[in-house]
Amino acid sequence: MAHLLVVEDDPQLRDALMRALRDRGHAVATAATGMAGLDAAVTDRPDLVVLDLGLPDVDGVQVLRMLRAVSDVPVIVATARDEEPDMVAALGDGADDYIVKPFGAAQLDARVKAVLRRFGPPEPGLPLRVGDLVVSVAAREVTLEGKALDLTPREFDLLCFLARRAGQVVSRRELLAEVWQQPLGGADKTVDVHLSWLRRKLGETAQFPRYLHTIRTVGVKLAAPAGTDAD
Ligand code: CA
Repeated sequence: MAHLLVVEDDPQLRDALMRALRDRGHAVATAATGMAGLDAAVTDRPDLVVLDLGLPDVDGVQVLRMLRAVSDVPVIVATARDEEPDMVAALGDGADDYIVKPFGAAQLDARVKAVLRRFGPPEPGLPLRVGDLVVSVAAREVTLEGKALDLTPREFDLLCFLARRAGQVVSRRELLAEVWQQPLGGADKTVDVHLSWLRRKLGETAQFPRYLHTIRTVGVKLAAPAGTDAD
């Protein structure tokens, strides 16, 4: 069972979605405005947010941007057919999937499950693998090409977070919120300093990255080097 938040201003649609998703076994909270949705997403920490783009107070794309500054909760945006530019903007701003109105509950439920599968915690005990880098979450151990790395707890948390999102760019702000628990931001230098230590332990430099790629002004990405098995 997943804890879902549905942000939708149309009361009939909101109630219909809530009932249909509850019938399919989810716990569902709802919000009728963008700001109420943002508030609920931050305080209730749902597993996934279904976000209508056409909202009365703040448009959904803005809500998504504000949400992304503090949370990496999976988001499915719901759009009307004539809102395609907004949908494209939403995907660019970190939406994980979209659904076009009118849609049925079964279709939404299938998307919810697919997104949650992608974002859900890995099977307990199964290590995260990025190329030849293996992160054993439960044991808090990391090996690179079979050799154990000696990481500090913070470096481990940082690497673990990046490994869960391998192949995606993660912003410094997200790292501060999720790894340092500083959702309102802090000194960007903190992240950069830890990234440089981690980079050294991975045996690479910013100039010649293999796993840890800094994307200037955007963030950082952990990815398998070309030629390794990138599962
Ligand atoms: Ca609407």
